[in-house]
Amino acid sequence: MYQSLLSDSRFHELLLACDRDLAAAARIAGCPQCNGTVHSANYWRKPRGRGCAVGAEHDRRFSFCCAVDGCRSRLTPPSLRFLGRKVYLAAVVVLVSMLQHNVTERRLWRLSEAVAVDRRTVLRWRLWWRRDFRASAFWQLARARLMPPVDEARLPAALIERFRGEGVERLMALLRFIAPLTGGTVHAR
Ligand SMILES: [Zn+2]
Repeated sequence: MYQSLLSDSRFHELLLACDRDLAAAARIAGCPQCNGTVHSANYWRKPRGRGCAVGAEHDRRFSFCCAVDGCRSRLTPPSLRFLGRKVYLAAVVVLVSMLQHNVTERRLWRLSEAVAVDRRTVLRWRLWWRRDFRASAFWQLARARLMPPVDEARLPAALIERFRGEGVERLMALLRFIAPLTGGTVHAR
């Protein structure tokens, strides 16, 4: 089911629409350093893991630059598509990592093959959830809001289980939840 999601252009349109909203909110909020006006300073990425053709706009990472002289800070809003500097789409990082915990090895590797993720990358992601994600300032704050505590050895599967709805709704909810991790200067409150 998740495999078909990655090949569904409507799913990618949904991610892009969410990123547009997050970018619009960041623009309105202005520069987090000086409250100045920000200008668009988008850049291009080449995310891997999509199973269908989409327009070029899907590869654009929304970003802003403060217009105030002497500040010029870069503000990169949260994103549901890009997870930090990872080459693969955030959805792929989540799905492949999650499947390690609750499906058979065979199904995991079928998905890995479908999105062309090699075994070493999957192992690196596993380490990222266990070490970097858990140590992040975002997670240190966020986990305190989750009761009962999330079984951190089972991230991200243990986290997605906390959201309601069908597969796609849960996935979107999780991506939205962890989106503050992906912003350059925006931090979780
Ligand atoms: Zn500024």
